[in-house]
Amino acid sequence: MGLAQLVVRSRRVAMPDAIGPASVHVRDGRIVAVAPHDVAPVGCDVLDFGDAVVMPGVVDTHVHVNEPGRTEWEGFESATSAAAKGGVTTLVDMPLNSVPPTVSLGALLEKHRAAKGHCAVDVGFWGGVVPGNERELAPMVSQGGVLGFKCFLVDSGVDEFPRVSEDNLRTSMPILSALGVPLLVHAELPGPIDEAARSQLTFPGSPKKYATHLASRPRAAENQAIALMVGLCRETRARVHIVHHSSSDAIPLLREAKREGLPLTAETCPHYLRFSSEEIPDGATTFKCAPPIREQENRELLWQALGEGMLDMVASDHSPCSPALKHGDTGDFARAWGGIAGLQLSLPVTWTEAHRRGYTLSDIVRWMCVGPAHLAGLENRKGKLAVGLDADMVIWNPEERFRVEPGILRHRHKITPFQGLDLLGTVQRVFVRGKLVFDASGREETRLGQLLGR
Ligand SMILES: [Zn+2]
Repeated sequence: MGLAQLVVRSRRVAMPDAIGPASVHVRDGRIVAVAPHDVAPVGCDVLDFGDAVVMPGVVDTHVHVNEPGRTEWEGFESATSAAAKGGVTTLVDMPLNSVPPTVSLGALLEKHRAAKGHCAVDVGFWGGVVPGNERELAPMVSQGGVLGFKCFLVDSGVDEFPRVSEDNLRTSMPILSALGVPLLVHAELPGPIDEAARSQLTFPGSPKKYATHLASRPRAAENQAIALMVGLCRETRARVHIVHHSSSDAIPLLREAKREGLPLTAETCPHYLRFSSEEIPDGATTFKCAPPIREQENRELLWQALGEGMLDMVASDHSPCSPALKHGDTGDFARAWGGIAGLQLSLPVTWTEAHRRGYTLSDIVRWMCVGPAHLAGLENRKGKLAVGLDADMVIWNPEERFRVEPGILRHRHKITPFQGLDLLGTVQRVFVRGKLVFDASGREETRLGQLLGR
């Protein structure tokens, strides 16, 4: 492998099994050694970060970039620039909200063309499973390199990405199982949501009230969807991953599936871990997402599940739109786009809340680096500071506070429910494959990100 060209050292390096003094040796973009703190070959560049934390870059497996087709909502340049500033060195793009949606090899190649040369960090892609695209699944993996697939069990919010039925899944899941790629599932079933809509017709609530939005997406929709997916996972042995888990009532189902040894994982998101429905003001549509942010008691049970490993990871579900669609002026939850923008803030939001509850930096590494890298099949390249892996590193100060102001945000429209929060954790520098992609003093290089394939 040869001697290191670059050595990054500090008193707090997050190695796979410990955090302590160490030096990370880098050659040709890869880690060639993790050595004692003071070891460095003669003649190489040494960057000593003192007491700052050197951690594997965050892997965010749930990002809606929206380009091509809805680039006015978000695009590769703005999203990956926000990622770099937030310590995210790999993101995986969701197959919907771009036009075309990534549901065929042709559409995937359009994505590649839109992204290539425009990314500040490494980017992978999820394909979509929609009714009738079974024949596209294998080529999207073998020729296009998608890392897995996403589907919806309920209306996705965009017409061009229809939901799948249980029958559709019985056709596609054995294909995914044979391909060895995961199926990411938006786990809400329409039945309980339709029922809630009918009862809201009888007893209409104000569309400006958060309580009305919360009641429109009952826990039962999630609980039933997860029960269905556990059954299909058992039947087909396809790897199933529940995205943006919100209902704490469904945690026993996850526990049961894991006890049984089923290949099923789940993520939750920073907004479910930070906010609670009780504190969301009426008309504050920046908080709208689906499934919704629920009660404080629900939030604490999500934390407990994360701590126990029933929820495996944290992903941002960064899903911005144009300001008009967010209906900030009308405050109408029924008409506002459901989606929260916060990719850049994922690490400090999660850390601030984790630290408050006694969790450690090692937990953060497990939830935000190792777990998501494994989900995306990138565990041999990303997610750890270990020999042979890409030298993706975030250097940050977990004790330093900052306030979220629009001026610091790099995603396209500076709208986020995290606005105004005081958070712990300032990012100083970020490296992707040994190259500086963010520097708080502004000397970073941009657009060095590569497109990742399986
Ligand atoms: Zn999403």
